[in-house]
Amino acid sequence: FAPWTDPASKPFISFNNVTKRFGDFTAVDDLSLNIYHREFFALLGASGCGKSTLLRMLAGFEQPTSGEIVLDGTNLAGTPPYKRPVNMMFQSYALFPHMTVEKNIAFGLRQDGMPKEEIAERVLQMLKMVKLEKFAARKPNQLSGGQRQRVALARSLAKRPKVLLLDEPLGALDKKLREETQFELMDLQQNLGLTFVVVTHDQEEAMTMADRIAVMSHGKVIQVATPAEIYEAPNSRFVADFIGDVNIFDGKVASANDSTVEIAVDEDFSISVITPEKPTMGSSVGFAIRPEKLKVSRKPPANPKVNAASGELWDIGYLGDMTVFHVKLTSGKVVKASLLNAQRAVDDPFTYDQEVWITFAEDAGVLLKD
Ligand code: ATP
Repeated sequence: FAPWTDPASKPFISFNNVTKRFGDFTAVDDLSLNIYHREFFALLGASGCGKSTLLRMLAGFEQPTSGEIVLDGTNLAGTPPYKRPVNMMFQSYALFPHMTVEKNIAFGLRQDGMPKEEIAERVLQMLKMVKLEKFAARKPNQLSGGQRQRVALARSLAKRPKVLLLDEPLGALDKKLREETQFELMDLQQNLGLTFVVVTHDQEEAMTMADRIAVMSHGKVIQVATPAEIYEAPNSRFVADFIGDVNIFDGKVASANDSTVEIAVDEDFSISVITPEKPTMGSSVGFAIRPEKLKVSRKPPANPKVNAASGELWDIGYLGDMTVFHVKLTSGKVVKASLLNAQRAVDDPFTYDQEVWITFAEDAGVLLKD
């Protein structure tokens, strides 16, 4: 499933140059983005980056100041929220406290004037879907957080929208329940064949659930890609830093040929990186590398000046599944390297304050032009 890789496939939802201003504050800034049918799409970014505003414009609760939103071939301008084939599930769940689970789920269907028998049938179907048949007669305050979340989900899917919008859907759940629910949501989305657009500030949540992620900052999309691409090939310092752990080295371009760029970091340390980029000689660039791509060893490498730096072991953190090393390089910079314990020798010789070398391969990190 990767319609975005096929130039012939049409997007299901398009934001075309969408801007949203509140007074003189720009919450969404000339943003363009395509989402495909049956995609599980995540908008990821820090608080205030405009992700909820984008979702609210798709739902119709806010109007773009300029630009257009197209859904399934229809420009949504002027279509009120209740006429859009879109439903939104809120973080607070917004359940009616005085109504039973059953009535909560039926609410929207009643408003639409659906015949009673049909409502009963649909509600039962929804209760089964979220495995809450036994809880139909309870009120929200008689449910756990996870159960309330499922009622909200059932309610938002009862009208069979084409697109479900989820604003921080798992924010109120504890870690274990959140992880379980992530997989339930993915299952549901697959089985129903719907398009899900989820807003989250939790990168792990976005990485776990989404087919693709849009990383946002200050009302703009910085990168749209699959979780693996976002992690392995961040397109900018912002994304490299925002997603996961990273070491960033700064230097100047010393040479560049068809496939490789050499970055001079300091007298004793230069980085050779395989990249399609062609940065200008002498320009300032960065190099981003994930902790698990740095090797720590006690022996000096064959070429100690390229993709290798010496330092001392500053800290060794045992985390169960892996060990994290902090190495203080001769330059004073502290870098982080990690190693899966399953891949580690039992009689590991590393101790604090030891002289060590970090080394890495030419394709282990990415060049950052900004
Ligand atoms: P969070 O995760 O905190 O909800 P967000 O990325 O979803 O953040 P938005 O809710 O989209 O951010 O808000 C983006 C910016 O627009 C924020 O600075 C917010 O204060 C501002 N904003 C949102 N709605 C309004 C409004 N109705 N009037 C004025 N400013 C608003």
